[in-house]
Amino acid sequence: MLPGDALAVSEEFLPGKNAYDADGTIRALLMGTPVRDLAQREVGVKPVVVAKLPTVGDVVTGQIETAQSSVSNLKIYYVNGAPTSAGFVGLIFLREERGGGRGMRRTQVKLGDIVRAKVISTVNAMIHLSIGEPHLGVIATLCSNCGSPLSDEGGRARCNNCGNQEDRKFADDFGRQPIQP
Ligand SMILES: [Zn+2]
Repeated sequence: MLPGDALAVSEEFLPGKNAYDADGTIRALLMGTPVRDLAQREVGVKPVVVAKLPTVGDVVTGQIETAQSSVSNLKIYYVNGAPTSAGFVGLIFLREERGGGRGMRRTQVKLGDIVRAKVISTVNAMIHLSIGEPHLGVIATLCSNCGSPLSDEGGRARCNNCGNQEDRKFADDFGRQPIQP
């Protein structure tokens, strides 16, 4: 329902919440879902709850949807521990970290990883995320070899099934079950 949409004719229904009578037609005052109260013969509108964009400092948890060398997309399922179905996607820009003098780029996140991140900017409604702090980063992941869950082994993720080892930017509680968004 959009504002102004017809809900009923006024011979059948009275205007309920967020509805009005305009020359014999009951119309919606707000965007939302029509609600009919047959006992009271009222029709009203339940307003759409507009999801609030996460703000700077919020901690979000989600799953990596796309992972490229410089930026990854995180589909957000939790904001500050509360579930959201708004479908927000945040961007994690990956720093080039040179480790051990070998000039190798460290893999920070991979496709499918469950990641906890902090909102650092929302300029132009783009949610920029950071995973730099100890409690941020990958909290659960599957072996890219065999698909088994990986467990923490001294800062590296190890597959108990096939022995594969993987490198990530892990959160300090990586491998703990159940995961805490
Ligand atoms: Zn494996």
